[in-house]
Amino acid sequence: MQTTTVNADSYASYLNGGLDFIDDAALRRALAAPAPSPERVREILARSLEVSEALPPEDAAALMAVEDPGLLEDIFEAARAVKRKVYDNRVVTFAPLYASNLCVNNCLYCGFRAGNDGAVRRKLTLPEIKAEAEVLAGTIGHKRIVFVTGEHPATGAQYIADAMREIYAVKVKTRRGFGQIRRVNVNAAPMNVEDLRILKAGGIGTYQVFQETYDRALYAKLHQGTTPKTDFRWRLYVMHRAFEAGIDDVAIGALFGLGNWKFEVLGLVSHARELEARFGIGPHTISFPRMEAADGTDLPAQSLKNVSDADFKKLVAVLRLSVPYAGIIVTARERPETIREVIGMCTQRDASTRIGIGAYSERYGKQEAERQQFMLGDTRSLDEVIGELAGLGHITSFCTSGYRCGRTGDHIMKLLKSGHESRFCKLNAVLTFREWLDDFASDATRAKGEALIKKEIAEIRAREKDFPPETVKLLDAYYARIEAGERDLCF
Ligand code: SAM
Ligand code: SF4
Repeated sequence: MQTTTVNADSYASYLNGGLDFIDDAALRRALAAPAPSPERVREILARSLEVSEALPPEDAAALMAVEDPGLLEDIFEAARAVKRKVYDNRVVTFAPLYASNLCVNNCLYCGFRAGNDGAVRRKLTLPEIKAEAEVLAGTIGHKRIVFVTGEHPATGAQYIADAMREIYAVKVKTRRGFGQIRRVNVNAAPMNVEDLRILKAGGIGTYQVFQETYDRALYAKLHQGTTPKTDFRWRLYVMHRAFEAGIDDVAIGALFGLGNWKFEVLGLVSHARELEARFGIGPHTISFPRMEAADGTDLPAQSLKNVSDADFKKLVAVLRLSVPYAGIIVTARERPETIREVIGMCTQRDASTRIGIGAYSERYGKQEAERQQFMLGDTRSLDEVIGELAGLGHITSFCTSGYRCGRTGDHIMKLLKSGHESRFCKLNAVLTFREWLDDFASDATRAKGEALIKKEIAEIRAREKDFPPETVKLLDAYYARIEAGERDLCF
């Protein structure tokens, strides 16, 4: 067994005259431009609200240059408006499943790096993965997970595909129905096309790889040696290979805190534009994990101050506005108060998160379950998070229907850009929230959830133009069947 062999030929055909789609000089010029006038800011916000393709990096740079408090508020409000237009008021929740911390790479910021001699190395077996999925689906109530591994020959594409099959087969009896993981996304090393085809055949939802930094010089400093991760372009063109392999649902991200956060935002926007231009399909989601303290490395501690909370809120808003159709993921790396500030612009978050290997089933004991890749900021349960979201007027959705009903790739892009997907979002949020309330909610969360679901149904009935009588009739029928214990009914 080997890790994927880095193959420079595989990206040569994607270069433009030998150059990458990340145009360093142009991005740095955009960042050096003076702050925009209020008129220019309003013109950019209006364009974003039209929800077509990703904005040019110059527009994203202009928004990031705004310091005036009043204009900044306009930017935040526009970001929330774009979120509601494209995805309604729903927030999708998920949990990461950390399956292995074996890793051949030596990323200076990560507790899993090969050079961290203090780490206890584990790779879950298939029965252990099943046990994790049973807790996630049967006790907590998740329907969607991200399967996470380091990069190692023992956890290649076949291991991940076998794990996905095991996870999809889990079915646990709950209070009124049954729990199942219906979507497995994968965050693992960049692979070659052949391996990506194995993931596709195994039923992958979204393939997620973070570039970490789009700054080449910094990338080289953080990823030294001759491991697969040292090749910047192998990573930069992984989503191109994913499309070649038939995976049209891809997710990008950068690790904030390593370098200049404004440059990373422009890198992400350029990446989205490149995928749109080349394949007609932009990223399904964008992630912006902020560096956390990690076991066995002091780099994160030095980097934690690089992105303040105020900058973080701005970067979330600018990404939301610059790639208006994309899902925007905030993670439990952040503290609850930070998440509350940005959740109105985001579409997904994780909850009940544990990032130790085998941590959900406490396979290696409680203490070891707490040994992890980095430290979490929000360790609250899914039930607590859902209660809080409901109190703030956000409905938690466990919808996984888009992917299973063929709404992926260019089909979903059209629906997102036209605002049509938000109607599916609303209907499926109501149905899947009903399931979760009946199967898992505490009394306190259930009370908040019942009030919200009533309000959502009333809104659907009132919006006749968006939800014609036959749609409402079908919603009523599905809703009644779910209350009677049927599961997985969706639009
Ligand atoms: N090994 C794969 C890779 O590197 O692409 C995927 C798994 S890795 C655990 C997932 C992500 O965790 C990385 O891409 C990185 O952005 C993030 N990460 C690593 N160290 C971190 C830290 N100290 N704080 C926050 N996020 C971190
Ligand atoms: Fe390994 Fe990924 Fe951590 Fe780098 S970020 S050390 S590749 S697990």
